[in-house]
Amino acid sequence: MTGLRNLVLVLGDQLDAESAAIDGFDPARDRIWMAEVAGEARHVWSHKARIALFLAAMRHHAETLRARHWPVDYLRLDEHPFERLAEALAASLAHYRPERVVCVEPGEWRVLAMLQDSCAAADTPLELRTDRHFMLEREEFASWARGRTQLRMEHFYRWMRKRSGILMEGGQPVGGTWNFDKENRANFKRSGPDPLPAPRSFAPDRITVEVLELVERRFPGHPGQLAAFDWPVTEAQAQAALTDFIEHRLPLFGRYQDAMWQGEPWLYHARISAALNLKLLTPQSAIAAAENALREGLAPLASVEGFIRQVLGWREFIRGVYWRDMPGLASANHFSHHRALPQWFWTGETPMNCLRDTIGQTLKFGYAHHIQRLMITGNFALLAGIEPRQVADWYLAVYVDAVEWVEHPNVLGMALFANGGRFTSKPYVASGAYVKRMSNYCANCRFSPAKRHGPDACPFTTLYWNFIDRHRQTLLANPRTTLMARNLDRLDEAERQAIRAHAAVLMNTLEP
Ligand code: SF4
Repeated sequence: MTGLRNLVLVLGDQLDAESAAIDGFDPARDRIWMAEVAGEARHVWSHKARIALFLAAMRHHAETLRARHWPVDYLRLDEHPFERLAEALAASLAHYRPERVVCVEPGEWRVLAMLQDSCAAADTPLELRTDRHFMLEREEFASWARGRTQLRMEHFYRWMRKRSGILMEGGQPVGGTWNFDKENRANFKRSGPDPLPAPRSFAPDRITVEVLELVERRFPGHPGQLAAFDWPVTEAQAQAALTDFIEHRLPLFGRYQDAMWQGEPWLYHARISAALNLKLLTPQSAIAAAENALREGLAPLASVEGFIRQVLGWREFIRGVYWRDMPGLASANHFSHHRALPQWFWTGETPMNCLRDTIGQTLKFGYAHHIQRLMITGNFALLAGIEPRQVADWYLAVYVDAVEWVEHPNVLGMALFANGGRFTSKPYVASGAYVKRMSNYCANCRFSPAKRHGPDACPFTTLYWNFIDRHRQTLLANPRTTLMARNLDRLDEAERQAIRAHAAVLMNTLEP
């Protein structure tokens, strides 16, 4: 077939009905192309809910485009023979022989390389367009980062605030300060959080039910469960989820953003990261909604600033870091850690209560909030010396909001320090004392967070002191971690020997 001008590719995480890919779309000369391929679910061993969310949102998006009477080629998973996106695309390029392929710049280095290779092989020009779901273009980040030996989110965030005017007044930050970390690190009282507002739930409709059945049928051995699947899968639902967060949880989001509580997977978190990453929701609308809540007195500045910091600061920052540091970031291993990921990361079957709860909710919902990901699973993986790439693949597989540009910097850079502190000033390691302070996990655990060795010792605590012991010299030289090393120096040699011996036993009994 000839005569096609643009074959417009819409990837699974580009579900924006006003995407730059469709600027100037002419239904008489152009076609939309979308494909579901099993290879994307197997690239990492994806959670069923993650597969289902992508497919359900893609199918809803295709419906939106078809409702415009636009020609849409949608390759359903069960209706074509292709395992990989490249194979499906090659067949369509051979069939249509378009003048060019148009696509918004992909969010993943691997997919970008695949598109470039596929188009080159078909001798078809590839036109990449800006992803408007970011507030900064990749080149703009590169130019901010140029010449800086260290990339620090705080500097970037202030620059973004000034540049955008968001939460700024007369050139100064609203409220007279850039952050409210002191107010935003509260833990819950002994009785736990006050009754929590249930987040808005989106019952699967006909399209989503069909997808859930398909996923159970095609990926039966994959991790996770689908029974609780209620994620937003359309732009309207994503907007409703945002509104629900702003009205009911934003006011206390900042105060309790680092707190954890057993059996409470959502607390005051937004539950919009998946919608943002699939491009069902724009960061601009999320920020505007939070600013509006501040103006109307519905949420305090500390909460609003804490939320905007995540969207305007952290989200843009890690995306910039990803493109700057890939592909090397994917194989970074600063500490030369090579231990295999324990099998119980896929089942949650461990006596460590904090890990059991965090992994358990991850398998049930495809979700854990950021402090669970950083200070429970990430902290443990770093302390236990698990190979960073295996940990990164696990995160990419099990969270519904996981796309590589988010996960690699967050996991490899932030949680595991695998890139040697490229954008963090210290490894985020903590003992059981931290977990005890910020949650009720330890009260329900058979281990004691205060014990450094012995059968009842908390593995986090043992491995924490062992980590400090192993890296004492480096930690001593870093002003942000000197105190950790000094605290170790207060322990006598016998105590340090006992910690080393118990840590060795723990590490050797981690299941492969
Ligand atoms: Fe986790 Fe240790 Fe606390 Fe148990 S005692 S919940 S293993 S931090």
